[in-house]
Amino acid sequence: MPKDHAIIVRVAALLLLLLTAGFAAEPRRVEVYAPQSSYQVDILVREGVDYVGLTDLLEPLGRVESRVEGKKLKLTFNGAEAEFEDGKRQFRARGVSGDLPSKFLLVDGRGYIPAAVTARLLTRVSDQPAEFHANPRRLFVGGVQFRYTAELRHSPSRLVLAFPAPVNPSTLIERGRVRLLFRREPLVSNGTDYVSYGDPFLASTTFAETSDGAEFVASTLQQATVSMGDGGRTITILAGSAAAPAAGNPAEQPQASSPAAHAAHARPFVILDAAHGGSETGAIFSPTLQEKAINLALAKRLQKELETRGIPVVLTRIADNLLTWDQRAVSANTSHASLYIALHASTSGHGVRLYTAMIPTLQPGQSSRSFLPWELAQSPFLPQSNIAATALAAECNSASLPVRTSSAPLRPLNSVTVAAVAVEVAPLGSSADELSAAEYQQKVVNALATAIVSLRSKLEAGQ
Ligand SMILES: [Zn+2]
Repeated sequence: MPKDHAIIVRVAALLLLLLTAGFAAEPRRVEVYAPQSSYQVDILVREGVDYVGLTDLLEPLGRVESRVEGKKLKLTFNGAEAEFEDGKRQFRARGVSGDLPSKFLLVDGRGYIPAAVTARLLTRVSDQPAEFHANPRRLFVGGVQFRYTAELRHSPSRLVLAFPAPVNPSTLIERGRVRLLFRREPLVSNGTDYVSYGDPFLASTTFAETSDGAEFVASTLQQATVSMGDGGRTITILAGSAAAPAAGNPAEQPQASSPAAHAAHARPFVILDAAHGGSETGAIFSPTLQEKAINLALAKRLQKELETRGIPVVLTRIADNLLTWDQRAVSANTSHASLYIALHASTSGHGVRLYTAMIPTLQPGQSSRSFLPWELAQSPFLPQSNIAATALAAECNSASLPVRTSSAPLRPLNSVTVAAVAVEVAPLGSSADELSAAEYQQKVVNALATAIVSLRSKLEAGQ
């Protein structure tokens, strides 16, 4: 017995050592992107909450003065005053009081605020817009963040990425993939973080924000080279090796298949939108189970299932990041997809609920071509949305999944300009755990995929 104990103690000590080493290996920082400069602020973890030092955060952005009076920290930033108190959540900035999500800390005469509140606080004391992406721990100040566009072109096959400002990513070309890591650039999601091209050169692309920066990965099926252009504003990922003869010589080109055939492949049929994400969790089912994660798991499972059935797919997000409803609608409307599917999860009810937009259908004589407000943009597409919902419901029925269809004022359905359906998945029984069960997710996804395949001819023909 004592011997066993000794072993347990040693194993525990080893685990502790490994854990400590693991944490030490990845220093936790907030990456700040501001018009003046990009910089990093170290994170202090207290009671499970990420904190950042107020002076560390504000100093590169302007003139900071602070003084400690007892338990209070009084601070001026570019003339604006703020006051915090050790152990208290309430603070005052420019004479208006506010609440921190966790208590303010004074450590060795330095003030610390929860990382999650940095964007809100900066907006309060500086009037500058700020946005904090919690999971990759990236803070954008003064609206510096920008997005990219990607376009697949042919003869020769190449993916052209365009940026509104010069970029300089580190580039890694491996067998089957090209990886671009943007460490310094405030590059953020354009709303389609996964695109499957099904092209002989390009299989798919992914985009994700990480604590190292933004990462763009192209999965290629042929050798590729990378070149920059337009003063760093474009990056071209081109088929062929650098050592190969120039692409301009047609005799040397291995196989010249027609661009039209490529274009037909390149167009996605469906855009999958895992609802919520980042700081917006959606429903909270348990301390460890949040809707945003279930929605993403469902979207990725559905993506796989559709791709094995030959359906090209685009995903709005593939990581735990926040997208606004408008961003999702814009992604759907510019993706060239014929069908938009939003994925939600819920513990109320059982099985699958399908929602189409709740808006009045067009009056006779009201042309679908006339300008429609953003909130009514779905109107002309409502008949196609209903066709999609009917097909989805029929397949759920066939799979013995309880299913209900209704219309609901659910964002962003009203603003999507293709057939659009929101799918809400609830457990069959009473336990929320069923939502994260692989078997149940797959059952739902199989039914949805079968319906989506059947919709292809109906929806693509109408365009
Ligand atoms: Zn939801």
